[in-house]
Amino acid sequence: MITHDDVIAWIRRFAAVVAENKAYLTQLDSAIGDADHGINMDRGFTAVVAKLDGIAGADIGQTLKTVGTTLVSTVGGASGPLYGMFFMQMGGAVAGKETLTAEELATAYEAGLGGVLRIGKAEPGDKTMVDALVPARDALRAAIADGAPVGDAVKRMADAAEEGMLATVPLVARKGRASYLGERSAGHQDPGATSSHLLLRSAAEVFAGR
Ligand code: ADP
Ligand code: MG
Repeated sequence: MITHDDVIAWIRRFAAVVAENKAYLTQLDSAIGDADHGINMDRGFTAVVAKLDGIAGADIGQTLKTVGTTLVSTVGGASGPLYGMFFMQMGGAVAGKETLTAEELATAYEAGLGGVLRIGKAEPGDKTMVDALVPARDALRAAIADGAPVGDAVKRMADAAEEGMLATVPLVARKGRASYLGERSAGHQDPGATSSHLLLRSAAEVFAGR
């Protein structure tokens, strides 16, 4: 069972991880984009943390929606609307909830992922965050089918996302700025798949033992 406090701890942990990896994410984006992914993510999650301090009393759905709307309003670039949609849709799927079971987490995650796929129109193999997020969805479903506790299920999501992230290296980008490079985008790890892995790795760390 994941509590509202766990969700808030996850977002705070990810914000700290983004700050630690700001230069790294930007460096990845400098190879196949415009060298701003770390800056974008750090700007967004710094604003999110400032908002979290003032939302005591909200439920999980409300908190996730606030994360999403804050990202949309503070982050330019492709990643702002995409991560914003991810969190807004997740929040909408668990409106009013104070705790989440693994099944409820899967419902929320699938709603968030559905929003990313709908607005970004990327498919697995296009060298985007979707290459980390989709295998994580499959791993979560497999873990639930195995009867895994939610903490173990999220660890399996993070491991699948990491594999998906690493698998973006040889791919040629078909979506986003990196697609402008064509074949020259091959040989570089996708920045958005990297931040998505960090998002799920942060969740696995915070939800361990749940
Ligand atoms: P921008 O590309 O506008 O500079 P960022 O650098 O913050 O924005 O984010 C780049 C990341 O966004 C890419 O590495 C990729 O993972 C992700 N991305 C770009 N376009 C899409 C899309 N259509 N669908 C899913 N993810 C995308
Ligand atoms: Mg960029």
